[in-house]
Amino acid sequence: MKVKACPFCGGKPFVELGSRAFIEGRTEKVCFVRCKWCNARSNRVRLSDYGVTSQSKDAFNDVIEMWNKRAENIKEYEIEYK
Ligand SMILES: [Zn+2]
Repeated sequence: MKVKACPFCGGKPFVELGSRAFIEGRTEKVCFVRCKWCNARSNRVRLSDYGVTSQSKDAFNDVIEMWNKRAENIKEYEIEYK
């Protein structure tokens, strides 16, 4: 599986496997894609949603897909001149 370069800095991302995050009042194990250079990250997914506690290939694939779509999904603003 390939991962796109970071949309912010062009850096090389990696999958952060087992971080803990506090979500909706609970500590959850999450995984997400993170840029090595600027620390930009994808959305996080909860491993518990995949029925696992440590690693899930499906979870990895999902976060990589989210990351790869990110550049295409970034919204645009009208430019302001001040
Ligand atoms: Zn970056």
